[in-house]
Amino acid sequence: AKGKGPGQLCYHSPEMSGRARERLALEADLRGALAKGELSLHYQPQVALDSGALAGMEALLRWTHPTRGSVPPNAFIPLAEECGLIVEMGDWILETVCRQIRQWSEAGIAPRHTAVNISAVQLSRGNLFDSVRRALDVSGVAPGQLELEITESCVMLERELSFKTLADLHALGVRLSIDDFGTGYSSLSYLQQLAVHKLKIDMSFVRGMMDNSGNAAIVRAVIALGKSMGLEIIAEGVEQPEQARYLRAQGCDVIQGYLLSKPMPAVAAGEYLGRYAQQ
Ligand code: C2E
Ligand code: CA
Ligand code: CA
Ligand code: CA
Repeated sequence: AKGKGPGQLCYHSPEMSGRARERLALEADLRGALAKGELSLHYQPQVALDSGALAGMEALLRWTHPTRGSVPPNAFIPLAEECGLIVEMGDWILETVCRQIRQWSEAGIAPRHTAVNISAVQLSRGNLFDSVRRALDVSGVAPGQLELEITESCVMLERELSFKTLADLHALGVRLSIDDFGTGYSSLSYLQQLAVHKLKIDMSFVRGMMDNSGNAAIVRAVIALGKSMGLEIIAEGVEQPEQARYLRAQGCDVIQGYLLSKPMPAVAAGEYLGRYAQQ
């Protein structure tokens, strides 16, 4: 940057040091959050457009900080990734979700799949396969009940290792879904090399779809591409009935978004599943 020679350290500005201190404080709190039980998972339903049947649930991480209140994942997951905490947190997430699936199964209300978001850091560390298998073993959940949501940039970090891990997970029977599809850097050739079950159309395209012909074209193209490869297509961030109607007309399989429900705490999610199971 301009005027940043030796001895002119930019982080000495009061604003930066304030931010850095804030960051350090948050990081220290985050280290304790797991142990103190401040982390929890919320669940958001996914529903099939043709039948209206419940197709799945996505687990989304929540942090209830003692003084700051609810801290959104976008504010602490990048931090957890930078300091490596995401690996430990990720294991806890996998175990917690699998325990939840088991509980829902015993109550006869389990959705077909429950999805967990996987960070690029978890995937590049090399032990994700073991973490997943352990979580499945301990809970007695079948691999096919668990879905992992990965982003295109997930496989950019340690390409060979990530591909191998995903192939092993696929062979184990775990479902794989590409999150935020269309927003990553990766080339479409990745799709051929990665055995995945599902494509998730990013919210940004869904949001712009009704009044931006470019976004609508992307949505239609993703649906056509996914269909031709035999993949299930889900659209996220669906808020309006007309968006759902448009997606259905284009052949999209499943939707997720505030139109159906916001992410719910586990108890409310169980009640939601119970209502579906009775239908
Ligand atoms: P994501 O995986 O793309 O999740 C979708 C986000 O959109 C979620 O935000 C969800 O609550 C929100 N959302 C769902 N439906 C709607 C809608 O109709 N309208 C709008 N405006 N938003 C909607 P959330 O829960 O704040 O999570 C943000 C991101 O944090 C996630 O994006 C994901 O990348 C990350 N994240 C969340 N939980 C986890 C986790 O357990 N592990 C990892 N590694 N990342 C996570
Ligand atoms: Ca996701
Ligand atoms: Ca997403
Ligand atoms: Ca996202």
